[in-house]
Amino acid sequence: MQHKTHALVIGGSLAGLLMSRVLANHFDRVTVIERDTYPDQPVPRRGVPHSRFPHTLMLRGQRILEQLFPGLKAELLAQGAIELDSMKEIAFLTPAGWTVRSDSDLMLLACSRDLLDWHIRRRLATSTKIHFLTSASVTGLLTDPDHTKITGVSLHRHQDTNIELHENLYADLIVDASGKASRTPQWLQKLDYAAPPETEVNAFVGYTARIYQPSPNLSVDWKMVFIPSAPPQQHRGGAIFPIEGDRSTPNQMRWIVSLVGGDHDYPPTDEAGFVAFARSLPSPILADAIQNATPLTPIYTYCGNENRLRHYDQLSDSPARLIVVGHAACLLNPTYGQAMTVAALEANIVDQFFQHHSIDSLHQQTHALQKRLATAHREAWSAATNMDYRYHSVPNKPTDTVTRFANWYWDQLLELVVDRVGVHHTFLEVLHLLKPSIALFRPSILAQVLWHDLRKRRQQSALRQESTISTM
Ligand SMILES: Cc1cc2nc3c(=O)[nH]c(=O)nc-3n(C[C@H](O)[C@H](O)[C@H](O)COP(=O)(O)OP(=O)(O)OC[C@H]3O[C@@H](n4cnc5c(N)ncnc54)[C@H](O)[C@@H]3O)c2cc1C
Repeated sequence: MQHKTHALVIGGSLAGLLMSRVLANHFDRVTVIERDTYPDQPVPRRGVPHSRFPHTLMLRGQRILEQLFPGLKAELLAQGAIELDSMKEIAFLTPAGWTVRSDSDLMLLACSRDLLDWHIRRRLATSTKIHFLTSASVTGLLTDPDHTKITGVSLHRHQDTNIELHENLYADLIVDASGKASRTPQWLQKLDYAAPPETEVNAFVGYTARIYQPSPNLSVDWKMVFIPSAPPQQHRGGAIFPIEGDRSTPNQMRWIVSLVGGDHDYPPTDEAGFVAFARSLPSPILADAIQNATPLTPIYTYCGNENRLRHYDQLSDSPARLIVVGHAACLLNPTYGQAMTVAALEANIVDQFFQHHSIDSLHQQTHALQKRLATAHREAWSAATNMDYRYHSVPNKPTDTVTRFANWYWDQLLELVVDRVGVHHTFLEVLHLLKPSIALFRPSILAQVLWHDLRKRRQQSALRQESTISTM
């Protein structure tokens, strides 16, 4: 009888769900092992406490999700998700001012993370190949007697009656998608393999969020507000992110209002402190908006927003048949909103890999696959860490000429996006991972940056001359 191929996914949050979707294209059976029991409504659960925070799905991610789940966008819109034009309907405050609004083709979909996950889970539940093993925690990895490959996992199953069952599950491929708290480095060491080297960039960013019901009399020209922090000068930021209404009135939009502070300046979680922090932002728009809105939840906080890269792609003696994806491999400061899109890119990479390689070839090819997976987070990692290195509290900042030039270039771009529609469009395409960051250096943009800088220098020099004359 022919061997039935089996893939195991540890963790059934976004990275694990997307991975299971593409693995079902190639394996006879896919088992998703999730510690939680899934709620039967789109509501938060223990393993994903961050679902209470705004979750921007970048356009690249949105497009991949639509390919994986045709019709998903329409389903989310029917449940109250909000579609908005990124250039026209977001009030975006840069250090140089508000960006000019204009029509664009960059249509963003905004909804709660719970609604997104719930719809994806519902779709996956219809697959005959995908099985969810919930209330089960993976506790270790299993290896073969020759110690060359990972053959499965050991796990605990939590029963209602407090009884825990221990069992082993075997598979041809094991995918760790267990997020930030992944224990794969320790599990590998327990089997005498090396743990991956790690790089951490921590700007000590704190994040708070609260859901509000906007006033029914609200009359504003935006659907979303985005006031990003701009370190090193301004380490505070905030956003108003629209989401669907509650289950009884899905079309009655709500807001997730979030505040962010770097360099240990964590936004407070008490009522007065939250409002005062909002007031301290460079514009009163956010504080004014919440003044007339009704809070629907407590204020939630999330610290521990460091970037951490586990370099599994650099392990030369890693075992075959184990790959690591999502936040388990590359933890990103969530305020830049790119992790779900990285997970979608990883799913694409795995799908393409198995279109060209057999499952048997994993014995030799796992390391090559992990290397390919590293390309999915490259842009997001460098964008998040380049920005975070600008906070005062990050040690060992790169000070080389390239970094200084990149920082200077970024500052010029932020001034240009205010009223140059073309630059703003490319800037957003890069942010949404539709284009690589090199697109921001194309000749027409480079010329505008240089000309803008030259004009500023001339103005400054003229001002200096004027003040010298007036003091004479
Ligand atoms: C505050 C915050 C805001 C964010 N905002 C954005 C945003 O705007 N845009 C964006 O793209 N991304 C955002 N993210 C990132 C996003 O939520 C996900 O964390 C990211 O996509 C990575 O997901 P993941 O599936 O790898 O891990 P997680 O979402 O952390 O999920 C891990 C899963 O594994 C399960 N698990 C863990 N250990 C085990 C085990 N031993 N056995 C079985 N199951 C286990 C957990 O229960 C959980 O379900 C944000 C994150 C945070 C923290």
